[in-house]
Amino acid sequence: MTTIEHKLYIDDVIRRVETARLKVSGHHIVKIVAVSKYSSADEISTLYSIGQRAFGENKVQDLKAKAIALDALPLEWHFIGNLQKNKINNLLDIDPTLFQALDSLELAYELQKKLEAKDMTLECLMQINSAKEESKHGFMPEDAKEAYLRILKQCPNIKLKGVMSIGAHSKDKEVIKKSFETTYSIYKELPNATICSMGMSGDFEMAIECGSNMVRLGSIMFDK
Ligand SMILES: *Cc1c(COP(=O)(O)O)cnc(C)c1O
Repeated sequence: MTTIEHKLYIDDVIRRVETARLKVSGHHIVKIVAVSKYSSADEISTLYSIGQRAFGENKVQDLKAKAIALDALPLEWHFIGNLQKNKINNLLDIDPTLFQALDSLELAYELQKKLEAKDMTLECLMQINSAKEESKHGFMPEDAKEAYLRILKQCPNIKLKGVMSIGAHSKDKEVIKKSFETTYSIYKELPNATICSMGMSGDFEMAIECGSNMVRLGSIMFDK
């Protein structure tokens, strides 16, 4: 695609996000994080040139390589993948805007230790496994609130901003919707939470209608 074609294509995605958010309220603002895990630094740079600022990666080494390659651009980097403990320092070296996948207390404690040692803070979202799927990471819905409060209290260098969830892996729209509703109801109960990150290329409109205010769009933003 040429840059112009890509712009028209992105305009269509933005129109769909607009339509979905306006069904909630004119005051319901939704942020798009472009998930660039299948895309090159050049493709990210094209999206930047048509106005996209926030990008997400799910592997620390890819995030690092692209953040370095695109260092000259004022981009916002989100880490959306599972973080292994031995990669924490590598992630902190990049100092991402938001770590969206804090998925266990063990990881929170380890992250807190490393943040403290570096005298840094990190904005994070707690990942919730809302459909209780074996294949997914995250806190079980029934444990999420207590764990969130515990991290707030015990991990002062972790700045919790809300929750992240991946919609249920199902063909049944009602099942997917229910998983979004579960995450949203937890989000509403958390003190000072402002970000509810749910919705990917295949289900973002439904996620927004269920209250999401951050969508993570990969294939649809890069036409993959
Ligand atoms: C890959 C990925 C996305 C984007 O997926 P698409 O279906 O390509 O939009 C969103 N969130 C997470 C956590 C991902 O790993």
